[in-house]
Amino acid sequence: MLRVEYREGLYLPDLDLWLDADGSRDRCVISHAHSDHIADHRAIVATPETARIFRHRVGEAEVTTQVYGERRDYGRYALTFFPAGHCLGSSQILIEAQGERLVYTGDIKLRPNVAAEDAVVVPCDTLVMESTFGDPLYRFPPDVVTFDRLYAACDRALSDDRVPVVLAYALGKSQEALELLLRRGYRVTLHGSNWNVSEIYRELGVKFSGEYERYSREHVRGRVLIAPPGCRKQPMIQNIERRFTIMLTGWALSRSAPYMYKGVDLVLPLSDHADYDELVRLAKESGASCVITMHGPAKFAAHLRELGLNAEHLAQHPHAAAKKQTGKRAATAVEQTLFD
Ligand SMILES: [Zn+2]
Repeated sequence: MLRVEYREGLYLPDLDLWLDADGSRDRCVISHAHSDHIADHRAIVATPETARIFRHRVGEAEVTTQVYGERRDYGRYALTFFPAGHCLGSSQILIEAQGERLVYTGDIKLRPNVAAEDAVVVPCDTLVMESTFGDPLYRFPPDVVTFDRLYAACDRALSDDRVPVVLAYALGKSQEALELLLRRGYRVTLHGSNWNVSEIYRELGVKFSGEYERYSREHVRGRVLIAPPGCRKQPMIQNIERRFTIMLTGWALSRSAPYMYKGVDLVLPLSDHADYDELVRLAKESGASCVITMHGPAKFAAHLRELGLNAEHLAQHPHAAAKKQTGKRAATAVEQTLFD
């Protein structure tokens, strides 16, 4: 069986293969372009969409692109990318080597996503799965219920002459929110970083259900503003006197949400990640004889074992754990506000 290690990224020592390394590598396979999955690599392998967003966020690299479903042989192994439903171009990666099929999910969402390709479950022998919300506490309500709450909040704010400010990270959640709002006929204005990524989506062929504007101070009344969560305490938002802030995050269901998002008017559980039930379904339907969980609670692997699956949690390599220790609190806060 192929060995799997986590040391500042996923590493398969038998193949000398790095995936989503968070430090510079000679060559790295990238599942998607959220900043906790990319670094300044010399060469990358990714979908064309991820490669384009990588270039926007990191800069130039030697790029090998593979479209979904295209199998390519690299000598010791073959790679095939499949949609992960997390953001445009996000991928699960099938690695075939030594007669084994190993799938690394990257960040994944099985529910349909209005601004990303629909995820599939890829049959495999070994499943390495992100498990951010691998706790039964995180069972999201049907997305349509959350959409209706979002629309109701925007309607109420606009009729009260307030500006609805939707807080959503720049890649993925923003475009999901944008499409949902445009479908409903709102005028939408975007913070520059959300706008930039949305323009790349359009360049890559995504057709949004209407036009949208780049934020300007003079033209915010009567619109819904989408901005990154990190902006909420900055003058751009604080200077909007009559506003109603809405945070979109799976952590809305966390017991500590009221403290994490203090000052936000409404926190809605719209996530780009699978919830607990989806993660269990993914593990079961993959048919994997070995499931390795990562990036979530260690007890999720124990839950899977109770369901009869052979599962274990991938602990960080001691070197990586020690290196991360210093910035741990900050990193956790950033992950919870930006990458959910
Ligand atoms: Zn992500």
